[in-house]
Amino acid sequence: MPEPILELKDVKAGYGSIKALKGISIKAYEGEIVSIIGANGAGKSTTLMTICNVVKATSGDIYYRGERINSVNSDKLPEMGLCQVPEGRRIFPRLSVEENLDMGAFHRKDKEIADDMERAFDMFPILKERRRQPGGTLSGGEQQMLAIARALMSRPKVLLLDEPSLGLAPLIVQQIFDIVGEINKQGTTVILVEQNARVALSMAKRGYVLETGNVVMEDDAKVLLDNPDIQKAYLGE
Ligand code: ATP
Repeated sequence: MPEPILELKDVKAGYGSIKALKGISIKAYEGEIVSIIGANGAGKSTTLMTICNVVKATSGDIYYRGERINSVNSDKLPEMGLCQVPEGRRIFPRLSVEENLDMGAFHRKDKEIADDMERAFDMFPILKERRRQPGGTLSGGEQQMLAIARALMSRPKVLLLDEPSLGLAPLIVQQIFDIVGEINKQGTTVILVEQNARVALSMAKRGYVLETGNVVMEDDAKVLLDNPDIQKAYLGE
């Protein structure tokens, strides 16, 4: 078995006295889609924010490509190839679509930024049409596309996606997940946090189930989809 590209070992984190992660261990291997599912408040967003050192791990280890990254500043991670698309998108509302995409490449000095922007526009044609429009005037689905496209501008090796389906109509959700699948096929490892467990597990190779700050189950995504307990608790069956 190769080394995981990303690994959390017994990671704890929280907010003051609130222990949001109580010692979780998660692995992602290069090229996988790994889904993390769980109910509201289970600790899914906290997991991604802790990987990015936005929330500090109080104990445990986080390794990315063999390097312990617990103390790496979150601003440095995109240039190392680890990039998060946070919940709620957080695009720059006053900047145009193009300027938002430029921000995704802020650390790059190479000459291929314009080519990458064209590739992002090929992937999301609606963003090309809206390239000069302020990000804040886009629809929810378009903003989610922009947030993903902006992350791609940093050429991530690992993309962390927090609830990309949140608040979006089913058709748009499908479009977004199709593109996530395409991004993965092109070689990017994806960690997908989702309340929409069915879609998340259908796309993933493996999955983790979080409950109140603990990993309570991990398995091949197909096995989780067929598990009656998971079906009852998370798939509405
Ligand atoms: P959701 O699906 O609702 O986004 P989640 O699984 O992503 O939930 P987290 O947002 O990681 O869950 O929250 C885990 C726990 O930490 C919850 O009990 C939540 O109330 C708490 N929490 C999250 N953010 C903060 C914060 N900024 N300050 C205090 N407590 C927080």
